[in-house]
Amino acid sequence: MAQIIDGKAISLAIKDELKEKAAKLKAEGTEVTLAVIQVGNNPASTVYVRNKKKGCEYIGIGSLSYELPEETTEEELLSLIRELNGRKDVNGILVQLPLPAHIDENKVIRTINPKKDVDGFHPESVGALCIGQPGFVSCTPAGVIELLKRSGISIEGKECVILGRSNIVGKPMALLMLRENATVTVAHSRTANLKEVAKRADILIAAIGKPKMITREYVKEGAVVIDVGINRDADNKLCGDVDFDDVAEICSAITPVPGGVGPMTIAMLLNNCIQSVELQK
Ligand code: NDP
Repeated sequence: MAQIIDGKAISLAIKDELKEKAAKLKAEGTEVTLAVIQVGNNPASTVYVRNKKKGCEYIGIGSLSYELPEETTEEELLSLIRELNGRKDVNGILVQLPLPAHIDENKVIRTINPKKDVDGFHPESVGALCIGQPGFVSCTPAGVIELLKRSGISIEGKECVILGRSNIVGKPMALLMLRENATVTVAHSRTANLKEVAKRADILIAAIGKPKMITREYVKEGAVVIDVGINRDADNKLCGDVDFDDVAEICSAITPVPGGVGPMTIAMLLNNCIQSVELQK
C-alpha cells in the first residue's frame, strides 16, 4: 500500500511555524495584515474567504475584510486596490476569484502592487518565478513542493509529468519543479498519447479538474502521485482528478482528496503573508 501524504498534518506544522514567525515579527514591532476582498456572494468563495481569515487568526496576523456587493463596478474595485496598495499597514492584498463577469480579472490582478501580491498571480510575480528572482509564488503549486519535501520525497533528477497548464496551477508548478531540478513535461487536453506520457513520470501531478480520470493506466508502478483536483463525483462527493483506490494500489505515495493538496494552499498563502515583510523592506 502506498504512503498516504497527509496534507492536513503538514499544513498544520507549517502554520505552527508561521505562528512563531508572526509572534517574532510582532515582538519586533511589525504587525502583518492581509486584506481580503470578495465581490458578490459566490458560496464557494465565501467558504474560501472565511478559511483564509481563520488561517490569519490561527497564526496571529491581522485580516481586513472587504465584502463588496455583486454590482460593484470595476473602477470601484480598482480604486479600493489602489488605496490598499498605498497603505503601510497592509502587507498583502487578495482578491478572491472568480469575479463577476463585468469585471476584468486581468486588470484587477495587474493593479495589485506586486510587493503585496500574496496570491502570486501578478505578471511580475510570475516573471520573477520564471527567471529565478525573489517574488511571491502561487500558493497551490508552492504547497505541492512543500508536501513533497516534507514527506521526504526527492525531486532532483526525477521525471515529473504535470497534467494541466493553467496559469494558477500547471504553469507555475512546472517552473517550480524545474527550479527543484526535475525533468519536467507539461501535458494538457491536446497532448497525444496522454497515458504513455503520464506513465513516464516518477512524480505525476494531476491538475485537470476531471473527477477520478487518472486511473492506474496512467501511472507507472512506484510513482509518486499528487492530486491537485477538487471535484464532485456522480454522488456529489468531493474527489480529486485521481481514482485514489485504483492508483493507491500501485504507486509509492499519493495525496488524498480531501486532506492532501487542499489544506496546503492556505498554509502557503499565510507563508506569503509572512514573506511579504521581507519583500517590502
Ligand atoms: P483549469 O480548468 O484552469 O485548467 C485545467 C487544465 O487541465 C488545462 O490546462 C486543460 O488543458 C487540462 N485538461 C483538461 N481536461 C484534460 C484532459 N482530459 N486531459 C488532459 N488535460 C486536460 O483548472 P485549474 O488549473 O484551475 O484547476 C485544476 C483542478 O485543480 C480543478 O479540479 C480545481 O478545482 C483544482 N484546484 C485545486 C486547488 C487546491 O487548492 N487544491 C487550487 C486550484 C485548483 P487545456 O489547457 O488544453 O484546456
